Formats: sequence, structure tokens, C-alpha cells
Amino acid sequence: MPETPLSLPPLTPSTLYLVATPIGNLEDITLRALRTLKECDVVAAEDTRHTGQLLKHYGITKPLISYFRFNEAKRSAEIVGRLQRGEKVALVTDAGSPGISDPGERVVRTAIQAGFRVESIPGPCALVAALTASGSPTDEFHFAGFLPHKSAARRKALEKLKAFSGTLVLYESPFRIEKLLVELSDIFPQSRVVLARELTKRFEEFLRGSPTELLALQQNRVLKGEFVVMISEEKPAKTI
Ligand code: SAM
Repeated sequence: MPETPLSLPPLTPSTLYLVATPIGNLEDITLRALRTLKECDVVAAEDTRHTGQLLKHYGITKPLISYFRFNEAKRSAEIVGRLQRGEKVALVTDAGSPGISDPGERVVRTAIQAGFRVESIPGPCALVAALTASGSPTDEFHFAGFLPHKSAARRKALEKLKAFSGTLVLYESPFRIEKLLVELSDIFPQSRVVLARELTKRFEEFLRGSPTELLALQQNRVLKGEFVVMISEEKPAKTI
């Protein structure tokens, strides 16, 4: 890897850096993300073991603190304390862009409220990778992240989402993908759905069809991996 040119400005003290990391393929990390991880004082990670492996892969040794959903209030205060002491803090989550459907959001708000600078080091995001290659309309889309887990709340949320025009984008786990396809068959029966799974990985796949076609496919051949689901009225550019 080439040395960082001397002309690049150093990181700014008392700044929270949101560093996007790969969603599967380890090559998907920017030069700026690597430099930020090298030059920061501490990395706040959703899973320190997972991020430790990522840092090791790139030959980076850095103190790690854990930051996840169940300690975010306490850790947000601790991170603000570090920013007050002039530290440069890099926030990373398990995959993709911190703050998108993961615990990054709270610390960003806390840091901004406390008057600190927050800088985004852009990079991979499952939502963007999936939507742009889906063939679904991209001029207008509504990202709703994960649906609630309980059946009644999910159906209510989906009914509400019918009001939006453009492409509806959801995140879904392999454990609930079949349930989601059943719900879409009932609530969005006429829609065109694209399932993007295992993005940037060896078995990356885009599956396109109506909710019932995809449900039949899932029942025939259990689909594994993490999913981004896109729902639109318009037929995608090409059906495979
Ligand atoms: N912050 C992340 C981002 O920028 O996309 C998202 C974090 S969220 C906790 C994890 C969800 O993102 C997964 O359940 C899945 O819906 C989606 N996701 C992440 N990586 C993915 C991949 N490689 N392929 C498909 N979906 C993925």
C-alpha cells in the first residue's frame, strides 16, 4: 500500500469519524477509511472482536471500545468525554455505514448536541449497493430499514408504507424473509420485488419477481444470507 502523501491534512482533534467498512468483500474500504482507522485515537465498534479482525487484516493496531445497542447511552457519554479531551474517535459498526439501521445514530446525536464535529467517511452501504443494481426505480425511494418483529406490528407498518410512492427498501434477516414474502403477497400483491442477498460476497444474487413467485422460490430452495428487499410498482429493467 502506498504511503499517505504528506500533504493530506491530519485528522481533526475532538471529532467523531463515522467510518464505513465492508459489507462482505474486504476490498471495499476506502483509502481514507484506512487512514482514519490508523490515525484515530480509539475505535468504537459494535463488536470489538469482529472489528479487531478487520483491523488485523489491514495491519492496524488500535485501542477498541465496544459500542452496541444495549450500552449505547453509557458509551455515548463516554465517547463525548473522549471528544472533550481532544481525542479523534472512529465509529464503526459490523458492516457498512454507521448510523444506517445500526446503533450509530445515538452517539452521532449526542456528539452533535454536545457541540462536537461529526465527519462521515463514506463507503459501503447495503441499501445503496442493492438499490442501484436492482433495476427498480431509484429516482424516488423510501428506506424503512427493519420492520418490527411482531406480526401485527409488521402488517401495520407495511400497510402504512403503501402510502409512499417510489421504491420501498427494507432490510431483512434470513429468519424472517419467508414471513416477509407472505406479508408482501397479501399487502403488495401487484408489486415487483427484488431480493438482493449476500451483496459483495461470493454468492451475491438478485432475485426478481412478484411476491408469490419469490415465495414459491424461497419454499423450493431456502435462501440464506442477509437481504435487502426492494418493492416497486414498476417492472424492473430486466427479469431474470
Ligand atoms: N449499516 C449497514 C449498512 O450500511 O448497510 C446496515 C446494518 S444492518 C444492522 C444489517 C442489515 O443490512 C442486514 O440484516 C441486511 O438486511 C443488510 N445487509 C448488510 N450487509 C448485507 C449484504 N452483504 N447483503 C445483503 N444485505 C446486507
